[in-house]
Amino acid sequence: MKSRGYCYRCYPIILRLEKTRAWDPSRPETLRHYPKWGGDIALPSGENLQNRHGLEPRTTDFPKIKAHTIQELQKRLLHFGNIEEKLSGPISGYDLELLLRRVARQAAARDRHLLSGIATAIEWSFNHRQRKLLFEWLSEILDNVRWRGINSWGWMRR
Ligand SMILES: [Zn+2]
Repeated sequence: MKSRGYCYRCYPIILRLEKTRAWDPSRPETLRHYPKWGGDIALPSGENLQNRHGLEPRTTDFPKIKAHTIQELQKRLLHFGNIEEKLSGPISGYDLELLLRRVARQAAARDRHLLSGIATAIEWSFNHRQRKLLFEWLSEILDNVRWRGINSWGWMRR
């Protein structure tokens, strides 16, 4: 399921990037996925924007919201790129340990150090092919629970 050379994961993000780049406040029909919620939008600078008026782009915040959205989408592409790059080479016990611990955090495990130090045990127990398969499935779980909006990907950055 590839389109224009992109994989099934990246392609929807590419399309969304194109639509976001085309956002034009004077043409409301271009504003697909423009944030509609009333809450704050956290910018990478640490600044909080109040998107109080929802779909009302004729504000001074419009360029910032647009730039931030583009940046977040690019981050997600980079994240998929990282997974693809990882999967193209050998997966170490430590790669899997990190991923399992992220799954634990996503599952709201109480102990922050849960499963810490299992890298060697993983390498003893699983061969290359098995580690790769596990890595792929665990990444898939995380991708599936993580997409709750544009600001919730931060945990994936090492
Ligand atoms: Zn891809």
